[in-house]
Amino acid sequence: MSYTQEIYEKVVAKNPNEPEYLQAVKEVLDSLQVVIDQNEETYRKAGLLERIVEPERIISFRVPWVDDEGKVQVNRGFRVQYNSAIGPYKGGLRLHPSVNQSILKFLGFEQVFKNSLTGLPMGGGKGGSDFDPKGKSDREVMAFCQSFMTELYKYIGKDEDVPAGDIGVGGREIGFLYGQYKRLTGLYEGVLTGKGLTYGGSLVRTEATGYGLIYILKEMLDDAGIELAGKTAVVTGSGNVAIYAVQKLQSYGAKVVAMCDSTGYVCDPDGIKLDIIKDIKEVKRGRISEYAARVPGAVYQDGRGIWNIPCDIYLPCATQNELGLEGAKVLVANGVVAVAEGANMPTTREATDYLKAQGVLFMPGKAANAGGVATSGLEMSQNSLRLSWTREEVDERLHNIMRDIYAKVSDAAKRYGVAGDFVAGANIAGFEKVANAMMAQGIV
Ligand code: NDP
Repeated sequence: MSYTQEIYEKVVAKNPNEPEYLQAVKEVLDSLQVVIDQNEETYRKAGLLERIVEPERIISFRVPWVDDEGKVQVNRGFRVQYNSAIGPYKGGLRLHPSVNQSILKFLGFEQVFKNSLTGLPMGGGKGGSDFDPKGKSDREVMAFCQSFMTELYKYIGKDEDVPAGDIGVGGREIGFLYGQYKRLTGLYEGVLTGKGLTYGGSLVRTEATGYGLIYILKEMLDDAGIELAGKTAVVTGSGNVAIYAVQKLQSYGAKVVAMCDSTGYVCDPDGIKLDIIKDIKEVKRGRISEYAARVPGAVYQDGRGIWNIPCDIYLPCATQNELGLEGAKVLVANGVVAVAEGANMPTTREATDYLKAQGVLFMPGKAANAGGVATSGLEMSQNSLRLSWTREEVDERLHNIMRDIYAKVSDAAKRYGVAGDFVAGANIAGFEKVANAMMAQGIV
């Protein structure tokens, strides 16, 4: 049995109830097989794969808070500190009722390789809670965030672990978390990223994941001789990643015809009006169905199925496993040319394999959405320097990082004889740096 298969079987036996984590590990190990085979003896001796699949530490804690009716509520908080071989743990916090250990381990594992691809010195981590911010008052969100940080602050720090936002954690939540960290420790330091501009945040961080997604999409299309301008796109979700992906797509002359949220999707054949989406989602925190009520000609459809809207470019930017085989088949039948993942693991393994086999250009999340964490890395640099770079400077650095990621991913795929397989390329390129650092640092 190969080393990668052996490790996967051990991981399955030890974690039978963690499907998302197993899915992420399997995808990475499968595409690393070509690299591992060449160095099997050395890696086996060092127990490299046994160590790389196991988080360095998982912290799980109670988060008690009082709601607006005066009732005590208790949520479960987590921080998964996955791998610190190339830098302090870095990765977002997710607040969503679906959050559990499996989802955070999958996200943390992916984060290790993603952070490595950025070229910046950041290890991988992830955290969050099953708290649902939807429908909560600002005071309730603050009470939760303060209680969450009252435990988390013991384990984080600017050189130890630097959390950021993710689903359900935007500027408001980062503000509450930062305020409580500062109050508990007395330290004014870059312990969180995604901060507001008045207290250490970086310009372009809000837009970075969406912009970065389009920068790498454009590199991939350019390399294949395909023009982005004039293409029709569908972008799923209507949160942070989706909104700024749409903004950048439109600036390149592409037409976005559909977006969604967790209750349904809207199709606007004339092109999505982003100012209206932003008003509904960023200002009113409302439902996407309101778009159809406000824009003549737009149609709202309840439920899933956004993939039925014909497009050239499909960007899943909502959540894990949102696009399955059925949807992938419809996309191909309608002539999709490229899929790039703004979300983490939004495409199931079956759907990914099908799209690749059908010749669709496919860029996986760990490369495609790395612009967010890369710009978080730039925020950390600015905090350490006690300087703020201009919008143009940060955007230029982000753009260069995404160009560089595309080059690394494409090159790694070519080096291992799988040119054009960006899933393999991203896993291999991300792994190489982490593996080298782990080998150099001994058995830790
Ligand atoms: P947000 O919370 O800002 O937005 C998430 C969006 O996805 C919302 O519109 C939400 O709808 C929608 N959504 C959630 N679940 C579903 C579902 N089951 N079906 C359809 N739509 C759904 O999160 P982000 O934009 O920050 O994150 C989106 C993805 O991108 C996540 O996978 C995240 O891990 C990843 N990511 C984010 C980064 C960042 O910088 N923010 C960086 C790298 C990756 P509703 O409004 O109804 O909840």
